[in-house]
Amino acid sequence: MLQQTQVKTVVPYYEKFILRFPDIHLLAGADLQEVLKLWEGLGYYGRARNLHKAAGIIVETYHGALPDDIRLLRRLPGIGDYIASAVSSIAYGQAYSVVDGNVRRVLARLFTIELPVNVPASNKVFKGSADRLLSTNNPGKHNQAMMELGALVCTPKRPSCISCPIKGVCEAFQSNMVEQYPKRVKTPKIPQVYIATGVVYKGQKVLITHRKPEGLLGGLWEFPGGKIKKGETAEAACVREIQEEANLHVKTDEHLTRIRHAYTHFKIVMDVFICSYVTGRIRLNGPDDFRWVRLDEIDDYPFPGANHKFIPMLRARGKISSQR
Ligand code: SF4
Repeated sequence: MLQQTQVKTVVPYYEKFILRFPDIHLLAGADLQEVLKLWEGLGYYGRARNLHKAAGIIVETYHGALPDDIRLLRRLPGIGDYIASAVSSIAYGQAYSVVDGNVRRVLARLFTIELPVNVPASNKVFKGSADRLLSTNNPGKHNQAMMELGALVCTPKRPSCISCPIKGVCEAFQSNMVEQYPKRVKTPKIPQVYIATGVVYKGQKVLITHRKPEGLLGGLWEFPGGKIKKGETAEAACVREIQEEANLHVKTDEHLTRIRHAYTHFKIVMDVFICSYVTGRIRLNGPDDFRWVRLDEIDDYPFPGANHKFIPMLRARGKISSQR
């Protein structure tokens, strides 16, 4: 849960999750939809899918116990060098160093490392430097101390050097160059994608489609739609996308709202339309499942964050029309 996500965001999700799945057997036996529902809003849904898959493998292959061999850990879905090293050192006391963003910053300042912290090409150097520093007597505590030092003391802006326990050996501090580290390369501007989405009504029910399990937002449900082509209006894109994705001919009745949402590598601007079904039988091209659901059934399905931004508007609109 903590990959790419801050602790304060994770805590309520973690608490809910651990209450529902207090052990790995329950997680392994759960339906993926339920796992995704608990993950809803946390993003990076591949983590939830991998966690669920890994739990299944751990139960089937390792009788429910995480392997204490780092090579076996790394074979589990979703476990890379960072998690494997953290588990091996913290849970099993093995001498593997952990390098996250906070640790990189500490190392860059401690040893005045000139390489940028935000490019994969620097990984080897930072890992090597962390390995050399690692306490083999207590690697778990050492790793946690490094991460905490970066999170609480050696912060990105205005680090608390005066109270830092390692200021005596910190090269950047000793040479009065803290401000100049870590080095970073400028990252390109995040592209913006324009999307049209349709809430298609057929009587009291609306159409939702299911994304294939792989890839971005895989395994979640959503309202159909897609990218607006160059020169195309949002309305036309909405009608075309629903035709292509679900083989339904619909008409747009109303522009519900415009949503802005940011993912890690791109931002979306989404125009949402209320549509009505005209003709056609559903034949899916892209999604792997669909449902016609009432608005009060929507909470049973996991949806991406961008859809959640307008679902309350749909409910409010539904209430107003039922009062008429
Ligand atoms: Fe970071 Fe300052 Fe400590 Fe050096 S002395 S590790 S720059 S907090």
